Amino acid sequence: MTDDATRRTSRISGFHKLRVEQRIDHVAAFADLGDEHRRQLAAPSNMDTHLADHMIENMITTIAIPVGIATNMRVDGRDVLVPMATEESSVVAAVGNSARQCYESGGFTTSMSGTEMIAQIQLLGVPDPARARLLILERRAEIERICNACDPTLVGLGGGFRDLDVRRIDTPAGSMVITHIVVDTRDAMGANTVNSMAERLAPNIAAWTGGRTLLRILSNLADRRVVRARATWTCAAIGGAEVRDAMVAAYHFADNDPYRAATHNKGIMNGVSAVVLATGNDTRAVESGAHAFAARSGRYRSLTSWEVTADGDLAGAIELPLAVGLVGGAVKIHPTARALLAVLQVGTASELARIIAAVGLAQNFGAMKALATEGIQRGHMSLHARNLAFAVGAVGDEVAEIARRIVEGRSINEAAAAAALAELREQG
Ligand code: NAD
Repeated sequence: MTDDATRRTSRISGFHKLRVEQRIDHVAAFADLGDEHRRQLAAPSNMDTHLADHMIENMITTIAIPVGIATNMRVDGRDVLVPMATEESSVVAAVGNSARQCYESGGFTTSMSGTEMIAQIQLLGVPDPARARLLILERRAEIERICNACDPTLVGLGGGFRDLDVRRIDTPAGSMVITHIVVDTRDAMGANTVNSMAERLAPNIAAWTGGRTLLRILSNLADRRVVRARATWTCAAIGGAEVRDAMVAAYHFADNDPYRAATHNKGIMNGVSAVVLATGNDTRAVESGAHAFAARSGRYRSLTSWEVTADGDLAGAIELPLAVGLVGGAVKIHPTARALLAVLQVGTASELARIIAAVGLAQNFGAMKALATEGIQRGHMSLHARNLAFAVGAVGDEVAEIARRIVEGRSINEAAAAAALAELREQG
């Protein structure tokens, strides 16, 4: 190993014990960071360093993501301002525009299947899996008692054990017996809650069946926590029958082709994940759940559906699992998330989930309408042009002017932005 390679080792014992500034020093030395980068890492944000240090391990800095407000949203008869945390331009604008176009026809109507989470316990090594399955099912009352004893607070809030399911799966590694415990986690996302229950229950399952338990963890395919939202856009509001029919054709393309569905659903998650992140919830849990749900038929399909109503209007609907909470995890301790939850004025996790589903539907409407008409690039690129102007060093009024020039010149890239800036400054 060369000297340089030795110095650049990632084997740093006790990194977590260092103060945050010392961690930054380490990282800066490792990566030969210049003063500008080092200063940026050490810059204060609207999150207290001690809190950030407490939230994750080896924390060195925080990364700020803009939070925008989606306007024009009306959900179940109530007007809401929805905070969205995203680094991608045009996401927030698309939701506001789409919501404006269905505001007069009533906005979004939502519902939710419940707030139940599933935890799985994997059982191996049972010679008689069919019998083992019944042995577990027969102990439902005892299982309920064990699970509820783990979280009296939750039970006191009206949550707790709700259901039991036991499945046998045949795998190349042999038969396995998979126990599902279904738990109402109320206003918590519930991952820690159900994981604790599964861990507590597992030794009993092993003892009852003579098998060996291995994994004990929640399923992110939270299909007992499915949210639905629908809205109608009048044919007139969206610009006529041609646009409407093009959007329906765009939907059928997505629903029948996984290559298209992946991008279609990504657009939906642009909206969903932005609200999930803004409220301090777990974006990865929601995303994996949504994509697994989209593939539940065995084929990866659209999370939304679109059809023409008897009146000739366009009706959209979305259905996806949304495991989000108002307590637990980072939600309760992240001060910005708490402030943004206060903006939403929601009293339950279900209300939050229903607003998020409405945002997902609005986002999908916006993307499909743009794609089926002028293409995504016009709206997208004019916002992207501003980012390019920033990237090449434009300041103040220059930003809008550079963006205007490169959009007009139809060459929206960094080189064009740099040339436009040089030209503008030359012109004086
Ligand atoms: P948690 O354990 O911090 O909080 C939940 C607890 O809060 C409940 O068990 C209950 O006792 C209490 N509580 C108080 N008021 C409540 C109310 N009104 N409704 C419900 N419960 C109330 O958090 P959690 O929600 O169980 O877990 C969420 C965290 O777990 C997130 O940070 C997530 O990232 C993380 N996580 C996720 C996964 C995954 O998705 N695969 C796995 C592990 C951990």
